Amino acid sequence: MRKRILLVEDEPGLRLTLSGRLASEGHLVEQAADGETGLRRASSEPFDLVVLDVMLPDRSGFDVCRDLRKGGIETPVLMLTARGQVEDRVLGLKLGADDYLVKPFAMSELLARVEARLRREPPPAREATEGYHFGEIDVDFRKAEVMRAALDLGADIVNDIGALQAPGALAAVAAHPRCGVCLMHMRGTPRSMQAEAVYDDVMTEISAFLAERIDAVQAAGIARERIVVDPGIGFGKTPAHNLEILARQQALLALGVPLLVGWSRKSTLARLAGLPAKAPAGRSPTEQARLEAASVVAAVLAVQRGARIVRVHDVAATVAGLAVWQASQRADNRADPSSDRASTP
Ligand code: CA
Repeated sequence: MRKRILLVEDEPGLRLTLSGRLASEGHLVEQAADGETGLRRASSEPFDLVVLDVMLPDRSGFDVCRDLRKGGIETPVLMLTARGQVEDRVLGLKLGADDYLVKPFAMSELLARVEARLRREPPPAREATEGYHFGEIDVDFRKAEVMRAALDLGADIVNDIGALQAPGALAAVAAHPRCGVCLMHMRGTPRSMQAEAVYDDVMTEISAFLAERIDAVQAAGIARERIVVDPGIGFGKTPAHNLEILARQQALLALGVPLLVGWSRKSTLARLAGLPAKAPAGRSPTEQARLEAASVVAAVLAVQRGARIVRVHDVAATVAGLAVWQASQRADNRADPSSDRASTP
């Protein structure tokens, strides 16, 4: 599989030489000529490696590296520095770089270091919002052709924020013998959804929408056992709507298919945790920990109210939170065997 490398280098000659050599090794090379562009692309697109010059216009390689790590981006970084001082190399590594090379360097050493980094695990995939961007190419997983291609490559679940409403989407999933499908409720599109977050009764509308989609999916020949539903926390909902969904979540169990809920790191939780709702430049480790704690509590509350699947970022912390809740239930039952609180998921 070809690896995607982002080359952030302001010297046009070096950029050309490096990208040519890396491409001839079979890699897919994208380029950025300044720190600001490099940071934006490395933050928003999936790369296997960032080759990052230190001396850059707009924002130095040190700043780019620090901001990437603050934003939770774990893509390996190989720094190119003209500054061979020990302090500079140490600073780069401490800010989150994985390796460095002092300019001028031998091309063979750069290629060897690139290969050494790429042997390691690929970085985890990040959540899709409005599709993925690969250079000039936009990939939208709501489109039927993309679903079909992903299923052909071995995907087991189609997790569709469009609930298979795109032309051909039902047929693409129906053509697969067994893949699961998650139908999510969203108002509008990811771009417009917050402006369209107006409901007479949010739960009634979500239930009716999901019921209609379950019928449509079954009518297309997809067995009920393959379906789960997701109320779409934060997709065209205000914080008040999201909390109302939590309070009245049990109404969705009447749909008769497993319920998936994704509260993790949503802006409603950030607000409740006293953090800014959005943090494009990333959150500090302390702020991240607070948002993670809020996410774990929300996941436990969702499971307590009947969710069978939770979509989370911090799996270990969520498992720990659920373990405490389950243990407390068992203790409750021992203390009062007549109580009916043994509904362990
Ligand atoms: Ca430079």
